[in-house]
Amino acid sequence: MKVAVFGMGLIGGSVAKDLRERNFATEIIGVGRSEVTNNKALELGLVDKILPKEEAVKIADLIILTVPVNVLVEELIFVLDNIQNHQVVTDMGSTKESIVEAVKNHKKRSRYVASHPMAGTENSGPTAAIYNLFDNKVCIICDKENSDKDALETVEKMYRCLNMHLKYMNAHQHDIHAAYISHISHISSFVLAATVLEKEKDEEAILEMAGGGFESTVRLAKSSPEMWTPIFMQNKTNILEVLDTYIEKMYSFRNYINKGKSEELNQFMRDANQIKKILK
Ligand code: NAP
Repeated sequence: MKVAVFGMGLIGGSVAKDLRERNFATEIIGVGRSEVTNNKALELGLVDKILPKEEAVKIADLIILTVPVNVLVEELIFVLDNIQNHQVVTDMGSTKESIVEAVKNHKKRSRYVASHPMAGTENSGPTAAIYNLFDNKVCIICDKENSDKDALETVEKMYRCLNMHLKYMNAHQHDIHAAYISHISHISSFVLAATVLEKEKDEEAILEMAGGGFESTVRLAKSSPEMWTPIFMQNKTNILEVLDTYIEKMYSFRNYINKGKSEELNQFMRDANQIKKILK
């Protein structure tokens, strides 16, 4: 199995590592945009060689797109325009609806499997790539009925090799769930970091007093703005809805403290504690 990976950052690099280690891929071809990343990916052994995308699409059996979602559609259309009927393409982008919508009438649409492995860290670029990133995490496959059976099977086999649990839903549902679970936690972390940086001017104090709570809540604020800006923009409708609820809850919290309503404040947190029943 020859695999081409477009975008050798955290996700692309980590996929490449595991697919080689677990003998899924016999050859991994990297397609990058910058010389620096291309050289780093080769130096780290993430890929066997770097090729221009025109050449990579001619020889790869499976093409995996792991570039930021604002450039994903362009790359996906390029791949679909150039592949043969035995080749398969999947993407790992964090949004799905606008991507599947953009290619819904493409004559090679059925060679594409839309997917989102729900795994990551706050780090980015080729040096962030790690083994076992995807183990025991969930991968969402969207609109599977629009993919050819063999294309779907190839992509499912790849995710099983990455030890992922597969879930199926349509792209619209995916974007709603992603807004609630993944996107809002990144937004709240970015906003928390911005708030503390504005209020606490003493960097030493942040460093010294950032015990478990602050450090773990603010970890996601170290994530790449280049990667997250297009995600927030593409999932605007769902994100605005969850953000409005979040802001309302923030106002309630503020109000309880401001008005000395300790019973209501206590009840608010007891309700929030119910998350323990779901996440042990
Ligand atoms: P990343 O570490 O920043 O890597 C992105 C890669 O894409 C880099 O190699 C970058 O090249 C390349 N790239 C950026 N802009 C490009 C462009 N205009 N044309 C071609 N290549 C370009 O990001 P990542 O975390 O791996 O995310 C990659 C994809 O996975 C995104 O679609 C994201 O939504 C999705 N995803 C991310 C996570 C997560 O938690 N991070 C989880 C699941 C899915 P350079 O090195 O030259 O900049």
